[in-house]
Order: sequence, then structure tokens, then C-alpha cells
Amino acid sequence: MNILVINSGSSSIKFQGIEMPSEKVICKGIVEQIGSANARLSYNTNHINIQETGGLETHKDSLQRVVSLLLDPEKGVIKQISDIHMVGHRVVHGGNSFSKTTIINAEVKEKIKQYASLAPLHNPHNLQGILLAEHLFPSVKQVAVFDTAFHQTIPLVAQKYAIPNMFFTEHQIQVYGFHGTSHKYVSERAIDYLKLEKSKIISIHLGNGCSMTAIVDGKSIDHSLGFTPSTGLIMGSRSGDIDHSIIFYMVNNLGYSVNDVENLLNKESGMLGLTGYNDLRDIQAGVEKGNTNCILAMEINAYRIKKYIGSYASIMNGLDAIIFTAGIGENSSMLRKMVCSNLDYLGIAIDHSKNEEVAKEIREINTSLSKVKILVIPTNEELEIAKQAYELLE
Ligand code: ADP
Repeated sequence: MNILVINSGSSSIKFQGIEMPSEKVICKGIVEQIGSANARLSYNTNHINIQETGGLETHKDSLQRVVSLLLDPEKGVIKQISDIHMVGHRVVHGGNSFSKTTIINAEVKEKIKQYASLAPLHNPHNLQGILLAEHLFPSVKQVAVFDTAFHQTIPLVAQKYAIPNMFFTEHQIQVYGFHGTSHKYVSERAIDYLKLEKSKIISIHLGNGCSMTAIVDGKSIDHSLGFTPSTGLIMGSRSGDIDHSIIFYMVNNLGYSVNDVENLLNKESGMLGLTGYNDLRDIQAGVEKGNTNCILAMEINAYRIKKYIGSYASIMNGLDAIIFTAGIGENSSMLRKMVCSNLDYLGIAIDHSKNEEVAKEIREINTSLSKVKILVIPTNEELEIAKQAYELLE
């Protein structure tokens, strides 16, 4: 059976067709910068590689174009719409309503809409993808896989903020956690690869959004993103941890509105705010050229990750492995090196030449004497979504 996985974001739609249970990718691609002059579509199958521009003004245009490519007699991979048997959607915030993958119905859509206030950059676009797919694949089961689901095992001690209890009981203000599909996928791969029966793992997902999870025996027990995907590590354009009084100060003393500050902390901060660049490749190029802002930003970034490694090793009372994943985690040997240096008291020792190797498969970059395994594992959220959707049918 074929599962189409859709990850609908604010200006992009990522898609992948996966045959299950063989896990064979039959097509994949992305429509980027939807609605802008630079909107483009890339579509790959095992015999074709297409880049297109034009006609990608809205999410609807874009998904329609993807479906017409899927059905195309020459470029396509299916003969009719009914050859797609299920559509799996990434949904960022499922609040505490969803601890697992769920078949989408009107009630589920209503909940996703409600949680949009908690993930305004993500949930409205995820919902839009669902509505469009329902329209394009009217008789196909639509399934939601929530980024928050993997973190439903976080215990109260890590879940509650120290604010009056009423906000927890009546308003569900608590840690939810995100990137769960990725943390679940890579930690399960690590456990298989290392053949661990009991395990204490720190998973470090470094993409545009960045987060870390403490995982004991395959279960998330703490996580760096909280009520919304904004705390913890320094991200592409999000600040991560700050003293919340900065917000009041900006509003009360500097003349910013609450909306201005929200925008500033989500879209103009992080590595972008520190360097002027969002893409880590540009920042690394700046480091090579001696740009002092870029050098300091990399140091601050690595320093923050180190602090979380220390605190997670401490709450787990031990550590078997750390995992680097996602665009930056998989590719930036510079950041991995900075994070893993001077952690020998924890038994972490990086092998510098292995760290520089480039591979698309799971790999170990620790020295033979390192007590803690350091793994680089390519994440595959689309495959994890397809697997979870498929399990729902079994
Ligand atoms: P997301 O899925 O969250 O949109 P990705 O996991 O694709 O993000 O990661 C995007 C980030 O990965 C960008 O900041 C980009 O700079 C970084 N990245 C991609 N390739 C490399 C590379 N070769 N070296 C360093 N950073 C990279």
C-alpha cells in the first residue's frame, strides 16, 4: 500500500510517497517559498528529477500540482487517486489530547484548530494541508501524527511550571515538547544499533527549530521546548531560553507591543539575531572569514547545548549515547566538535576524523575509549509518519 506523507508549513509543503511495509520511497519533494516570486517545486522519483517554477501561488495550487505530477503518465508514480491508500500529516501541536497517531475526523480538526493559539506558526498550516488533502483525496483515510505525542510520557516533575496550579489544571499550561516524531525515530534507531536493553540517551535535533530530549528506555522524560516551540536551544530565528522579564521590559520601557516582541523572539532572534544570517552554512562561512559575530554565535549555540547535556545527564543519572540529527546536527561537524569538546568528565570523547566524514547513514563519531557513544543519525520524519499511519491499519 502507498502512503502519502504531507508536511505543510507556512510557506512550504514537503511530501513523500512511501510504499509500506517495504518502506520504499516512491517519490519525494518540496514546494518552497509558496506565494513568492521564488516559489519552486522539486519532485523526485527513482527515474526522474524535476525542478519547476510558476503556478505555485497558494498551498492549494502547489498541492494540486504535486498531485498532477503523481498522476502524470510519464513522470508519475500512480495511475489513479485511489492508488494512494492513506495520507499521513505532520501536526505540530496536539496539546494533551493526543498521545498517539490519530485518524482525522471533524473533532480532531477542531482540536488542531484550537491548538493553533499555542503553535501559530505551525498548526494553521498543518490544518490547511489536511483540508486540501481531504479535497484532493476524498475517499482516503487521513491520519495525523503529532510532534507532541512522543512527549506525553514526560513526568509531572518536568511537565509543570512553577506558576499557580490553576494554570495547569484549568488552562493546561505545561511543557508539551515538540519534534517528537524525529526524537522517537532517531532514538529507536540508536537503541537498535547499539543493541541496548536499558538506555539513557540524549537526542539533539538541530534544524531550523532545535530541541533536545532526555530519553530513558525509549521514553521521553524531559525536553527543551516547552509550552510552545520557543524555549531551550538557540534556533535559526527563535531565541530559545531568555529571562521572561525581558519581554515586560521591552513592552513597558522600550515601547514595543506584545505582538512586536512575540515576532521579534520568534522570527528575528536566535542565530539570525546574533549574526544577520539564518542559515548555518552562511554563519560557518562567516566563522572561516573571522566574522566575530558569527564566531561568538557558534560559541553561544554550542554552550547552550552543552548546558542541556549536563542537566539531562544529571536527571538521568547517567548517559549511554548522544545523538545529533536534522539539517545542522547531521551536517555541521563544526558545531558537533564545539559541543563535544571538554566533556570528558561525562565520558564523552569525539573522534575528530570520524566527525569530519560525510555519510547519509547512521554513524558513530566517538573514540574507541569514549564511554558515551556519539551518533549522527539522519532523521526521517516522513518515514516515521508513514510507519505510524501503517501501524494504525494493522
Ligand atoms: P527543518 O526541517 O527544521 O526546516 P532542517 O532539518 O532541514 O530544518 O535544517 C535546516 C538547517 O540545516 C539550516 O539552518 C541549514 O543551514 C542547516 N544545514 C543544512 N545543510 C547544512 C550543512 N551542510 N552544513 C551546515 N548546516 C547545514
